[in-house]
Amino acid sequence: MKIGFIGLGNMGGPMAANLAKAGHDVTGFDMADVAIEGVTMAKSAAEAATGADVVITMLPNGDILRHVASEIVPAMSAGAAFVDCSTVDVDSARAVADQAAAAGLLSVDAPVSGGIGGAAGGTLTFMAGGSTEAFAKAAPLFDIMGQKAVHCGEAGAGQAAKICNNMILGVTMIATCEAFALADKLGLDRQKMFDVVSTSSGYSWSMNAYCPAPGVGPQSPADNGYQPGFAADLMLKDLRLSQQAAGSADADTPMGQLAEALYTQFVDNEDGKGKDFSAMLPRLEKRGRG
Ligand code: NAD
Repeated sequence: MKIGFIGLGNMGGPMAANLAKAGHDVTGFDMADVAIEGVTMAKSAAEAATGADVVITMLPNGDILRHVASEIVPAMSAGAAFVDCSTVDVDSARAVADQAAAAGLLSVDAPVSGGIGGAAGGTLTFMAGGSTEAFAKAAPLFDIMGQKAVHCGEAGAGQAAKICNNMILGVTMIATCEAFALADKLGLDRQKMFDVVSTSSGYSWSMNAYCPAPGVGPQSPADNGYQPGFAADLMLKDLRLSQQAAGSADADTPMGQLAEALYTQFVDNEDGKGKDFSAMLPRLEKRGRG
C-alpha cells in the first residue's frame, strides 16, 4: 500500500518504520526535521497525503489534528482512508471524520495503548471507531503496528474507549498508591500488602502488573526511580480529555474529576512533570491528612 504518515515523533516514528519494514511504500512528514529508516520524507503534509491509499496521523492534540486534516483531506483521493492514531478529544475525532466523509474518504479514529515500547516492537493495541469498510481497510496496517485491534463502533468510539480505560487507570493508580501510603502508616509491610491485594478483590493492573512500590511485585518504573513508563503528564492529558468528554456528554464522573485535580496538582505545582504516573506513591507517602 502507498501510505502517508504525518507526525513522526516518539510514537509515529517507530510505527512508520514498522510499516516500511513490512514492505509498504511510506511517505512521511513532520514539522520537525526527522529521518526515519525506510520512510521517504515529503515537504508538507499535503504532499505526503497525495496519492496515498491510507494516511495515518500521530499528533499531539485535537487542535493540531484539525489543522493537519484541513491540509490533507483536500489532497487525498476519494476512497482513501484517513486513520488518526493520536489521542484527542472525542469532538475533534468526530469533526475530522465528518470532514473526511464529506470529501468521499473513509476514516478511522484509532488511538493506541502500549506506549513507546509497543510502537517500537509492533505490539500496540488499537481502539478503533469508524465504518466497517474503513476499519477493514486499516486492519492490515494495525496488524503490522500492533498485536490487537478492537473495532469499538462508529466515529469517535476509539477515542471514547481510550479515555474511559485511562480514566479507570488514573483512578485505580491513585487508589493503589494511597492504600500503600496508609499501609505504611499502619506498619504493614509493603510486600505483605502486595501478596494479599494482588490475589484479593483489591487487585488491578496498577497493583499486579505495574506495582507503584519499588522492590515489590513485577519490574516496573518504581524500580527505576519512577522514570516513565507512562508519564504523569500523559496521564493528565488523558484525564483532561475524559473530563472534557464527560462535560460534553453530561456524565457524572466524580472519581475521574478528582483524579484529574490530583494529577494537575502533581504535574503543574509539584515535582510530577517528567515522572512516571505511579510516582503518586512517593507523593502521597510523604503527606499526612492536613
Ligand atoms: P511526540 O510529541 O513525540 O510526537 C508528535 C509529533 O508530531 C512531533 O514529532 C511533532 O513535531 C509532530 N507535529 C506537531 N505538529 C505537527 C504538524 N502540524 N504537522 C506535522 N507534524 C507535527 O508525541 P508522541 O509521544 O509520539 O505522541 C503522539 C500521540 O500519541 C499523542 O496524541 C499521545 O497522546 C499519543 N500516545 C502517546 C503515548 C506515549 O507513550 N508516548 C502512548 C499512547 C498514546
